[in-house]
Amino acid sequence: MADEFEYDLFVIGAGSGGVRASRVAAAHGARVAVAEEYRIGGTCVIRGCVPKKLLVYGSHFAEELQDAAHYGWTVEGMSFDWPTLRDTVLRDVDRLNAAYTQTLENNRVERFLERATITGPNAVRLASGREISAKYILVAVGAWPFMPEFPGVEHCISSNEVFHLDHLPRRVVIQGAGYIAMEFAGIFNALGCHVTVVNRSDQILRGYDEGLRDRLLQITMARGIDYAFNCPISRVDRQDDGSFTVTAGTRDPIPADAVLIATGRKPKTDGLGLELAGIALGAIGEIPVDEYNRTACRSIYAVGDVTDRVQLTPVAIREGQAFADTVFGHAPHTVDYSCIPSAVFSQPPLASVGLTEGQARDQVGNIKVFTSDFRPMKNVFAGRMERGLYKLVVDANTDRILGVHLIGPEAPEVLQAAAIAVRAGLTKADFDATVALHPSMAEELVLMR
Ligand code: NDP
Repeated sequence: MADEFEYDLFVIGAGSGGVRASRVAAAHGARVAVAEEYRIGGTCVIRGCVPKKLLVYGSHFAEELQDAAHYGWTVEGMSFDWPTLRDTVLRDVDRLNAAYTQTLENNRVERFLERATITGPNAVRLASGREISAKYILVAVGAWPFMPEFPGVEHCISSNEVFHLDHLPRRVVIQGAGYIAMEFAGIFNALGCHVTVVNRSDQILRGYDEGLRDRLLQITMARGIDYAFNCPISRVDRQDDGSFTVTAGTRDPIPADAVLIATGRKPKTDGLGLELAGIALGAIGEIPVDEYNRTACRSIYAVGDVTDRVQLTPVAIREGQAFADTVFGHAPHTVDYSCIPSAVFSQPPLASVGLTEGQARDQVGNIKVFTSDFRPMKNVFAGRMERGLYKLVVDANTDRILGVHLIGPEAPEVLQAAAIAVRAGLTKADFDATVALHPSMAEELVLMR
């Protein structure tokens, strides 16, 4: 590698994509440094997927404890303590932060715990003023919660703050009905808070299969979550007692003790200096890249949420890996964006891969849809009326499975294996020929006729 530069690679942002790219590039022999202005690990580890999933686990005990009596258990003196759950989760975040830091250290990646900005095609400046040169720069700074503008928005929290609440709010209003809104609606509802979801449209989870979305709406309403559709928040007022009044659409003002805004995340490119390297940003501040993650500047690459392609951790990790192998490992490859499985850890969760029924009708035309609308055994036994829904979308001409869509207990765990089959191009006949694993919910996948 050229010695005219201090480093072969300088990575800005130590999240999922940046850490993977750093350590793989270093393993390929590159001299690598990474700058991180907050904490090593990024959104997923510090204030996203990981702590969220732990809160989902924590809140799910409410359902398990409720159902336990049907299985002969007497649970006396049941109570919940938010600070205990919050602090245990935050300690786990500390553990992972240390583990990620150790990974970088083990791979001899130098770390700068400060903000870095770009000053030219091969130059960055650290907040401390130090100027650094690098043959390549990788931008992996991720995205940041988008907060709409309305009077009183300063009283609201985003998914950044929700993990640190002092108290469990009695009443929560959540704006948005996407991933974060539906996951936290489930967590707060299970923990006993009154939840109102307000959204600008009349839909939840845009992009997911309609049948699953309807089922989630129905179940969560039965669990006590209120919805206010077609009414974005127009103002939030703080009351003398510290609570809030949320005005949304033409509805009566909604009282709240916390207001969570979950209206999407935007690339975090403000003030990053990309224009000094000739890189023009896209409409929402994203960095345009080619299939090898290269920007308009030949020495600068970008991976992960900052490119606004698919805002999912495993995708950012693959992009970081592909970048490092391509540029430093003499093994050029790109990321395959087809058949990416995804899940919403709502309660119950839903999970999906491939085309929805609506997309398949538009794109393929001649399709068959198979569904299993079932009451999971554990729900029947516990007197819980909630039903699961599994759906296979099949190309009627080729018999190939185009999409699998599941809602019900453990749906994401079932979906991951089904995603392999969809990606491999298996047919409905292959599913039918597979013997059921009984008794399980997953067996529904091979029993749909
Ligand atoms: P989403 O894009 O999932 O949902 C955004 C919601 O906000 C939608 O209901 C949308 O309405 C609404 N909205 C969008 N813009 C505005 C606006 N200007 N004013 C009012 N409402 C608006 O975003 P999230 O914030 O929930 O999550 C961000 C990203 O993080 C997701 O896209 C996902 O990639 C990732 N994520 C993934 C998770 C997972 O994999 N389980 C979990 C959490 C986050 P509508 O669509 O109805 O018009």
